[in-house]
Amino acid sequence: MIETIHNSGLRLATGAFRSSPISSILNIANTLPLDLRRMQNSTLQKAKRIHNNTTSNLENTIKLNNFKFNCSGVLKHEHAITPPWVMELHSNTDLSQHIKSETMDYTFRNLTLSLLEDYQNYIKFYTDGSKTEAGVGASVYFNNTPKMIKFPDFCSIYTAEAYAIYHALETIQQLKIDKALILSDYQSTINSISNINQPNAISRMIQNQISLLNHNNQNVLLVWIPSHIGIPGNETADTYAKRAITSPEASLVQICSLGDIKGVLQSLTLQQWQHRWTSSLSKLNVIKPSINPWPTLTTKRRHEVIVNRLRIGHTWLTHNFLMRHEDPTQCTTCGEIITVEHVLLHCRKYADTKTSLNIPDHLYEILGPDLKNFNNTLMFLQQTKLYNLI
Ligand SMILES: [Zn+2]
Repeated sequence: MIETIHNSGLRLATGAFRSSPISSILNIANTLPLDLRRMQNSTLQKAKRIHNNTTSNLENTIKLNNFKFNCSGVLKHEHAITPPWVMELHSNTDLSQHIKSETMDYTFRNLTLSLLEDYQNYIKFYTDGSKTEAGVGASVYFNNTPKMIKFPDFCSIYTAEAYAIYHALETIQQLKIDKALILSDYQSTINSISNINQPNAISRMIQNQISLLNHNNQNVLLVWIPSHIGIPGNETADTYAKRAITSPEASLVQICSLGDIKGVLQSLTLQQWQHRWTSSLSKLNVIKPSINPWPTLTTKRRHEVIVNRLRIGHTWLTHNFLMRHEDPTQCTTCGEIITVEHVLLHCRKYADTKTSLNIPDHLYEILGPDLKNFNNTLMFLQQTKLYNLI
């Protein structure tokens, strides 16, 4: 029932005919098929229930196709140990006032080194994260010792960077360090950690850890420093964060954020949609092999409808025989069955008009993503009196 209403809505929005294949309408409308959306949402809901401890189900693993993850590793939202109005969190992002592309490396390096001179009696922890095709890693470098951490492949760089800071804070607590600097080149992590009122799960974990340190009179300052300008500790952290992805010496940490789960479920369902689209046969499929959206015309509703119908390959001209319960209509000039392809590319009746308007010889060039010559196609339809038959 919902399926029918959903499809009718998409037909109305795109202007597609009833005869058009649903898979093509979904593609043109850039709308995930409902069954895939249901699968994505129900898997995400399961992950949320496990994450919030609101399920009595002992099965902690979520599965989607070949993807499997134990959701006990999803970072949970902790309560704040310290109320926001008394929470003390010290950070220094002064260096970010300089725009990186406009600042010479050595100027930036000197600025950074002179900032660090103000904190000579602080123990310095350099943190960094890395995400490549091969996976996700992070490192914490202090006291000439690197610590390498590897995460599940679908974790975001944000999770990796933030977890490295969390790990540094745990080390500061364990080693009872009085004064520590945490130096990160990832500004969005520092910004979100500084959001005391509505932090995300990992920022809250970090804030609680800082609260514990404050309580023990251990001082921690988060500092943003620019990357790749030759600050030795930062360069080392960068190297080890990359190495962590493949090194057997890295500790594997099976954690992720709920946002990471959401991201991986989205990309898995898109993959599945693409797979389905690739193995399907339709007129649209021939010119548009991908599920990624193409730009539509934004000038006139009627023109947008014409583009959609031509791309899908179902127009009144080519498919009205279905409504009359007859056989497909043949072209009176060429004896061929009338299709969008026949009319735009091969029909002898329109050959001269087509040449005079420079209409290309491939459907992809006429109807593909680049519609800059679509005015010519519209003129072709007008001159051949097909405009009102699309
Ligand atoms: Zn013809």
